[in-house]
Amino acid sequence: MTTHTPHVADEARYDQDIYRRCGRSGLKLPAISLGLWQNFGGSTSVESQRDIILAAFDLGITHYDLANNYGPPAGAAESNFGRIFSKKLKPYRDEIIVSTKAGYWMWPGPYGEWGSRKYLLSSLDQSLKRLGLDYVDIFYHHRPDPDTPLEESLSALDQAVRSGKALYVGISNYGPDATRDAARILKDLGTPLLIHQPRYSMFDRTPEQGLLDVIGEEGIGSIVFSPLAQGLLTDRYLKGIPKGSRATHSEFLTKDQITETYLKRAIALNEIAKGRGQSLAQLALQWVLRDERVTSALVGASSVKQLRTNVAALDFDPLTNDEIAAIEPYAVHGTERA
Ligand code: NDP
Repeated sequence: MTTHTPHVADEARYDQDIYRRCGRSGLKLPAISLGLWQNFGGSTSVESQRDIILAAFDLGITHYDLANNYGPPAGAAESNFGRIFSKKLKPYRDEIIVSTKAGYWMWPGPYGEWGSRKYLLSSLDQSLKRLGLDYVDIFYHHRPDPDTPLEESLSALDQAVRSGKALYVGISNYGPDATRDAARILKDLGTPLLIHQPRYSMFDRTPEQGLLDVIGEEGIGSIVFSPLAQGLLTDRYLKGIPKGSRATHSEFLTKDQITETYLKRAIALNEIAKGRGQSLAQLALQWVLRDERVTSALVGASSVKQLRTNVAALDFDPLTNDEIAAIEPYAVHGTERA
């Protein structure tokens, strides 16, 4: 059970300057942010969720990333975060960046997913209710909609800002050309595109095929999701598949991804990490952050210990060019799966 006594945050939480400017905006984000896609739904204890959320804040992780559909069931992560936030973190609202998104299936009928104005603005209202917040800091369109004009989806984001329900807007899973178009349309509307949220890790380098260039040229920030490839770029699976790990219960990471080829790559990368005196997770995080166009690495965690290990990545010296070159043979290009 969580009590209503507000959390007393660690006074040292800002001692280390771990904040990076989000593109050419005025907003800074922590180099590592916490995502609530998994481990914050109905089947995880409230205590575990609370401990991870509070530990993050104490470590200077000021940014929590959500979406309408995170759970399970869909909506549960926002409700859980909202309850914990209101009991524990409310006094710190102005120190915290909360994001949410709409784009994936949320409710039945023609208005419950994709990118219509009807869906996006209704979904944001629902999210704010579940979160118990007056506004989110960043509202994203979660995925491109091939059947809705970009202008419609983006004008809905613009309206979210104008109505005071969001401070900034972002897009996720958009390709390079659509991103450039989105930046132009939003600029014309007067609400600059703050941030893009693509998947990027040593095992998925798709953003290197044009997206990061657009992000750099347009002055957009980026927060990269699954930088640990859902746990594959950690020591989690080096000695088998542990009970309770994501590969045992998620449709998004399956046991058949733990192949011989994967293991060879992960073991080699783990050796490089050991040579730096760090863990594979820490190496993987420093690898995505080596590119200054990446504002933040958006991690998940099923324990406070994992989160602490991940944030401690920021204590190490940046990767040298030689180390980056040594990683190259094991970091998969393009969309090829590890
Ligand atoms: P990660 O790649 O960071 O994977 C997190 C998982 O890796 C954890 O749940 C844990 O697995 C394992 N792990 C984390 N740290 C460690 C560690 N130090 N040692 C060992 N294992 C570790 O990210 P996610 O895939 O969770 O995605 C992060 C966030 O990105 C999401 O919460 C969401 O906010 C966002 N996202 C956005 C998407 C989009 O379309 N925009 C899509 C997907 C994610 P285990 O549970 O087995 O312990």
